[in-house]
Amino acid sequence: MKIGHDYSLLPHNTFHFDVRCRHFVEYDSDDELKQLLDEGTYFEGPWMHIGRGSNLLFQSDYAGTIFHSAIKGIRLIDEKESDVFVRVGAGELFDDFIAHCVSHHWYGAENLSLIPGEVGSSAVQNIGAYGAEAKDIILSVEAYDVGSHQPTVFSTKECGYAYRNSRFKQEWSGRFIITHVTFRLSKLPTLNVGYGNVKEELSRQQLEPTIENVRNVIIAIRRDKLPDPDVTGNAGSFFMNPMIGRRRFELLHEAYPDMPYYDVDEDNVKIPAAWMIDRCGWKGQQVGNAGVHSKQALILINCGQATGQEVVALSKAIQYSVFQQFGINIEPEVNIV
Ligand SMILES: Cc1cc2nc3c(=O)[nH]c(=O)nc-3n(C[C@H](O)[C@H](O)[C@H](O)COP(=O)(O)OP(=O)(O)OC[C@H]3O[C@@H](n4cnc5c(N)ncnc54)[C@H](O)[C@@H]3O)c2cc1C
Repeated sequence: MKIGHDYSLLPHNTFHFDVRCRHFVEYDSDDELKQLLDEGTYFEGPWMHIGRGSNLLFQSDYAGTIFHSAIKGIRLIDEKESDVFVRVGAGELFDDFIAHCVSHHWYGAENLSLIPGEVGSSAVQNIGAYGAEAKDIILSVEAYDVGSHQPTVFSTKECGYAYRNSRFKQEWSGRFIITHVTFRLSKLPTLNVGYGNVKEELSRQQLEPTIENVRNVIIAIRRDKLPDPDVTGNAGSFFMNPMIGRRRFELLHEAYPDMPYYDVDEDNVKIPAAWMIDRCGWKGQQVGNAGVHSKQALILINCGQATGQEVVALSKAIQYSVFQQFGINIEPEVNIV
């Protein structure tokens, strides 16, 4: 176990804000977490649990305890004719888990390649990319109940997964600490290359659609279009893509015939927030030390010495102009602390 006081969170948030927390506690096992819960000292004041901090924005120092899991392990726990069941420690990097799956030819996780962050958070955030979401491969989530100090296992259904959302982010926020996630992957070679330009890129490079090639192509596309958080502070997509009613969309579409959209169901349509932000002229703009990425308008960046407050101010200005122009509220995907 590692415990720090007046501790810098600079290495623990991909926006690279030099904020501090009163206490930082990193535990290595379920037993250590249970011990911390039973002692209770660090749960007395404000506390929160983080992963790699790649979806967090600290506006100022945190006057409480930050917990972090260092629970590791990627273990094959069961195998059927066509599926494998893999239990992974919450503190493992999600991309290390994917690399493991790809090297064993276990299918289903490869489209989520190179998303920053840890396995525990993937089950909170329901991360998604290239037509895949964490919920598609999660079988169960193990967590400690902070109130009763008891371990609990949730089925995927109980986690209430939705677009970048789960009960852990909503009504269960601050109630459970995730320790392990069990994934179900397929041994059957089924790949999904129909999203983004994965298929085009495979054929451009004359590559067979193998699990390794799909992962490599997705990594290359992401490296090309997204800022590397090790170089430029950011937390990925700052806003979620808003969903609006079809009738309202039809009216908007008359005014903006080039507005892209995705059908959600018969009554609802999703609009790419990046398109609206770009249309409002924000792409590549900088206000003080905060900016909008020049290749992807959904990503807000730390241009050097930005504070969390500067990035939040920029995000509010963007929300305001999108609302003024399109009458649509865009909500942050990033967890603002
Ligand atoms: C360059 C870049 C690209 C990105 N691309 C994508 C993308 O394509 N798709 C996508 O979905 N996301 C993307 N993201 C966002 C981010 O990678 C995900 O949200 C990721 O799941 C965050 O993981 P983390 O470990 O950093 O979690 P953190 O940001 O540290 O925390 C996220 C949430 O999880 C909670 N949490 C963390 N660990 C635990 C635990 N053990 N128990 C309970 N709660 C916990 C935290 O309290 C917080 O609410 C991107 C981010 C960056 C910087």
